[in-house]
Amino acid sequence: MGRVIVLGSLMTDLVARAPRFPFPGESLIGEEFAMFIGGKGFNQAVTAARLGAQTSLIGNVGQDAFGDAFFPALAAEGVDCTYVSRDTTTGTGVGCVTVATEIGQNAIVALPRANLTLSAETVRQAMEALLSSGEAAAMTPPGVFLTQCETSIETIVTALLQAHEAGFVTILNAAPIPQEILPAELFRLVDILVVNEIEASFLAGLTVDTAMTAKTAAERLLERGPEHVIITLGALGATWCTHGENGAPPFHRWQRAFNVQQIDPTGAGDAFCGALAARLSMGAPLEEALRWANAAGAITVTRKGALPSLPTRTEVEALL
Ligand code: ADP
Repeated sequence: MGRVIVLGSLMTDLVARAPRFPFPGESLIGEEFAMFIGGKGFNQAVTAARLGAQTSLIGNVGQDAFGDAFFPALAAEGVDCTYVSRDTTTGTGVGCVTVATEIGQNAIVALPRANLTLSAETVRQAMEALLSSGEAAAMTPPGVFLTQCETSIETIVTALLQAHEAGFVTILNAAPIPQEILPAELFRLVDILVVNEIEASFLAGLTVDTAMTAKTAAERLLERGPEHVIITLGALGATWCTHGENGAPPFHRWQRAFNVQQIDPTGAGDAFCGALAARLSMGAPLEEALRWANAAGAITVTRKGALPSLPTRTEVEALL
């Protein structure tokens, strides 16, 4: 069984559906309300666990009912939540989503709250405990550490450094677009950088919308320090770029997406990253892990929502 450690966010989405968006100052009667638990850290950890990796999540929620809901959910998925801490100073991260059903668009106010008060020291202690546990120390194949950009940069750098030193494979999913400039040293601690076309465009400084532009962006990002760069392009698939051997030009490999009927793209990137981490932790070569990630992303878009649409191992194996 592979070992995956995820550092990341836990967010509750509060979704109000109404025919249209309210005007400023207006109180509009809506049609429906729903609450969903998610956050990139949560979704990616759940995917890794569903795909069979022994998974721990490091994160922070408030001492409130939203926070309470995560623990039984993580336990039901088999994700170790020993290091999901409770914050007494602020609440659980929330996303207030309004869906205007007549135009099929949504507007979101995201409040990271406890995700951003998670301290680097708390993360350092959690990583130390997880990395020094008996099975982590003597692991073959090496464990995988996975993080995103929904907790502070200090927490990300701290954990990446520890994971890198412990010989874990490190994956940074630079999503969403970082609010702060990512320090140069961060990229050198990353084995695999995963971004979608929006994040790739921002980080590489060019518009990424085709296989060709993704190739150029991947090469630019590779120069910043990671061993591998993966750019996901939705229904097109994903491109993988790594350094050429003995001074040869960078090596590229294109993974076409699986042909599925898209219902809702929410969570595709999270399923992709969780599956990539899970498969690598089981000793799979990157190319094989990429195929699993592609299949996981594809399954996710065939169902509505995030948590219910994240795939199981049986579903991924059936699509491969
Ligand atoms: P994000 O959710 O971060 O924007 P993408 O939309 O690029 O990420 O999707 C991540 C991965 O999920 C893609 O690289 C692909 O493997 C898979 N995927 C996404 N949309 C589709 C689709 N319509 N058909 C098949 N696979 C898809």
